[in-house]
Amino acid sequence: MPLLNIPEELIELRSSLRQFIDREIRPVEDAHRQEIQETGRYEGIKDDRDKIRKRSAELGFWSLHMPEEVGGGGLSYLGQVLLHEEGSRDGLILPQVESIFPVVSGPTPIYLDCTEAQREKYLYPLMAADKTTCFALTEPEAGSDAQRIATRAERVDGGGWVINGRKHFITGGEEASFALVFALTDSEKRAKGGITAFFVDADAPGYSVTRVQRTMSPYQNPVELTFDNVKVNDDQILGQEGFGFYSAMRGINGARLQIAARALGLAQNFLDRSMEYAKSRVAFGRPIGSNQYVQGMLVDSYAELEQARMLVYRCASEIDEGADGRRQAALAKMVAVEMVGRVGDRAIQVHGGNGFMTELGLEAWYRDARAMRLYEGTTEILKANVAKTLGL
Ligand SMILES: Cc1cc2nc3c(=O)[nH]c(=O)nc-3n(C[C@H](O)[C@H](O)[C@H](O)COP(=O)(O)OP(=O)(O)OC[C@H]3O[C@@H](n4cnc5c(N)ncnc54)[C@H](O)[C@@H]3O)c2cc1C
Repeated sequence: MPLLNIPEELIELRSSLRQFIDREIRPVEDAHRQEIQETGRYEGIKDDRDKIRKRSAELGFWSLHMPEEVGGGGLSYLGQVLLHEEGSRDGLILPQVESIFPVVSGPTPIYLDCTEAQREKYLYPLMAADKTTCFALTEPEAGSDAQRIATRAERVDGGGWVINGRKHFITGGEEASFALVFALTDSEKRAKGGITAFFVDADAPGYSVTRVQRTMSPYQNPVELTFDNVKVNDDQILGQEGFGFYSAMRGINGARLQIAARALGLAQNFLDRSMEYAKSRVAFGRPIGSNQYVQGMLVDSYAELEQARMLVYRCASEIDEGADGRRQAALAKMVAVEMVGRVGDRAIQVHGGNGFMTELGLEAWYRDARAMRLYEGTTEILKANVAKTLGL
């Protein structure tokens, strides 16, 4: 495929997403504009997000990225990138809080390792947005080095397991109907056959959300989850016992590309707003955009965004064409999320003091985007991954 030959059907799909956003989401958010300008969010955002999620499932967007064999839309990685970018490009909050598309709270290819019974109980309700989930891996002593987890699952006489431990930074954990919990089942083997992924229902005795964590983003409140003698059965293991990381790997390319795409959309919004402001804001008798220093900021952002977009599209296409994606997804995410940090910073600078005030909403996205450099692989870990694929 030539580098930027985007198939017509993907362009049409993107337009239908745009229509959905403009017709059904924008008016909901606009009704709360004043509160958003003051606080970055609004009371009742969670209820609206849940309604939009359900609507997105009805329209087919919510599971578009899942293979057709399980009832999804079979959308390519390039298609996922285009849609996630589109959902982020106008600075609306609702499309970006896992309401239209799931990153961790809904169906992902990780669930393709489900048995038929698990599909009925977990995957299909996720695809219909009747349930939501969370991905519970990180712990206070185990982040980038995830194999250091201390949460344990121990076999009990007569069958089943008992899980004890604590996870933190878990996105969507407050509302999740069940969690996918990674626990040590063999402390010698660890990542090589000793870490198992379990489905744990949120109403299981001993499962609790012990803390909602406050962050520098107005839109992200991950949680701490505690497991106190939580009993699970053998049929709650995802995939093969001891090989939970192998199931998790099925979702990693998609998640990284989706985050990279969100970074493109956010950066486009920062740039569009900065361009508009540079043309209309007058200082010393002329628009600030006629000054070379201001032009330099805008052109740097434009150039970096264009470079990142080409790279992300190309990486997605390469995976669609059969690349295993280890390098592509890491490279795309690393470049795009670092780029949006710089573009957001310049957007604030171009807007002067107004950029720092809450009314414009720029500072809220600037703070939100900061987390992208941390989750789904920190930039440093992604660099290490890319280095390995280069033979270093
Ligand atoms: C908003 C948010 C949402 C999240 N959601 C989830 C979720 O839903 N589920 C989940 O399981 N986790 C989630 N996480 C956790 C996230 O995956 C971890 O924060 C991430 O893996 C980094 O781990 P850490 O925070 O423990 O940092 P550490 O691993 O302690 O790293 C600290 C610093 O050291 C660097 N570093 C570590 N090792 C190396 C190395 N080998 N080479 C070079 N540099 C290194 C890191 O890059 C980083 O700069 C979330 C985090 C955030 C911030």
